[in-house]
Amino acid sequence: MRRIRIFDTTLRDGEQAAGGALTFDEKIEIARQLERLGVDCIEAGFPATSPGDFRAVETVCEIVRDCQVAALSDAKLPNIETTARALMKAVAPRLHTVLSTSDIHLNYQLRISRDQALEMAVAAVKLGRSLLPEVEFSAMDAARSDRDYLCRVFEATIAAGATVINIPDSVGYMQPAEFADLVRYVMNRVPNIGNAAVSVHCHNDLGLATALSLAAVKEGVEWVECTINGVGERAGNAALEEIVMGLKTRADFFDCETGVKTDQIWRTSRMVASYMGFPVQLNKSVVGGNAFAHASGLHQDGMLKDRITYEIMTPASIGRTDSRIVISKHSGRNAFRDRLKALGYTLNDDEFMRAFKAFKEIADKKKDVTDGDVEAVVADQVLVAPETYRLERVQVSCGEPSIPTATISLMLPSGELVQDAATGSGPVEAACNAIGRLVKLPVKLVEFTVHSATAGTDAVGEVSIKVESPDEGTFVGRGASTDIIVASARAYVNAINKVVAAQHDRAAGRGRRASPSTPISMNEPEAAPAHA
Ligand code: MN
Repeated sequence: MRRIRIFDTTLRDGEQAAGGALTFDEKIEIARQLERLGVDCIEAGFPATSPGDFRAVETVCEIVRDCQVAALSDAKLPNIETTARALMKAVAPRLHTVLSTSDIHLNYQLRISRDQALEMAVAAVKLGRSLLPEVEFSAMDAARSDRDYLCRVFEATIAAGATVINIPDSVGYMQPAEFADLVRYVMNRVPNIGNAAVSVHCHNDLGLATALSLAAVKEGVEWVECTINGVGERAGNAALEEIVMGLKTRADFFDCETGVKTDQIWRTSRMVASYMGFPVQLNKSVVGGNAFAHASGLHQDGMLKDRITYEIMTPASIGRTDSRIVISKHSGRNAFRDRLKALGYTLNDDEFMRAFKAFKEIADKKKDVTDGDVEAVVADQVLVAPETYRLERVQVSCGEPSIPTATISLMLPSGELVQDAATGSGPVEAACNAIGRLVKLPVKLVEFTVHSATAGTDAVGEVSIKVESPDEGTFVGRGASTDIIVASARAYVNAINKVVAAQHDRAAGRGRRASPSTPISMNEPEAAPAHA
């Protein structure tokens, strides 16, 4: 079977999704999980855009050992140098440089001629190769480019040393048969194509990103670029789980395999959904809550007789098991530590103790503690921003008729305990208002999501709150508890702590934003100079 290589860009294109902000720690944790998942390359960011991105890429390079790490750069030579510097510590670095090839982009965005663009692409690849052994060249908007010009650019960039060439449908415009034809054209017409691996990168604007990617695989491409849950710019990228499970389930059709450990898919999907604050739709292929739920009587009848009647893949194949462990205050730490290990977490002593304490509190309140609960606890207790403000006490009164009122106690960085009360249209708003009165930070709550980590009325509720700070951008705070008002207050304080951490990072020159007055649009790199 032919080996297809998976290039995951959750941390780069995925993070470009509107409102999808990840903190430094969340990026690192996701990179670790992607390595565990077995992808072949992790695109970790766009280092030239901000000191925060640079630092995240550099750190991912330090910790990831088992796969390539890529970083994106436009074709400006100083940015290529910055990007190569960010990649220096990777075991297997890949510099990914991108320049548009469509007349639409050249004429209306970059305002340069085809010849100038070709020259810039060649210069970028040459410089990249003088710094690193692996350089990928992406022809942005390849799908809407003149085919012969596109082939000339690929030929020239391969001659300049590109080891991978990427054919993106950057705007999600293609139809599968048409894209297959484009891929075939490039593979047949570029004379030195044998000297580079071929990759595709598809977007989901018309709901076809996976179909386009798989059509390209059928034409012989080796690399597919994708993201977990299909997160990304606009309607998103091709979804990793769909591509991988498509190739696996239909190995008879594709005769291809990937190196992905599919039993890590479910966990990776939930991690990305929770950290980015983008819940997965219930009917999403492969990773949706209902993806394996058989509801009609006819289907259930078939399933009971033989699962093959209506099940083309099993929940277990993506790691979706209902594994239950029961732990109480009488059970020891070892069982908990073993379970964390099996789930792939490595916590330091301090983190472990915090998670264990929270875990016992939950074990006191509910009978069966599942893996979902354990993960909610770890996300809540371990992946927290430095705790500038600590929630000490939440007390609410609500009902019908009554005025929802919340009293909140917070521990300030100085060690001083402060408290205040506020009302709201409901207990959650009252709690958030009371926290707001104590913290006095100009943040706006833009989204509030509750979801139960597990089934049952005693389920742990996971609350995710998205806040917007005018200076620092968007942050997702999370909280977990069997009491959703407590979970909400925790989530709000967590989001506020992230904003405070970002203020400190920016003051120290390592923020994810260059400066509040110049927001970075990674979607549309600013026009390149006519000659670099
Ligand atoms: Mn893209």
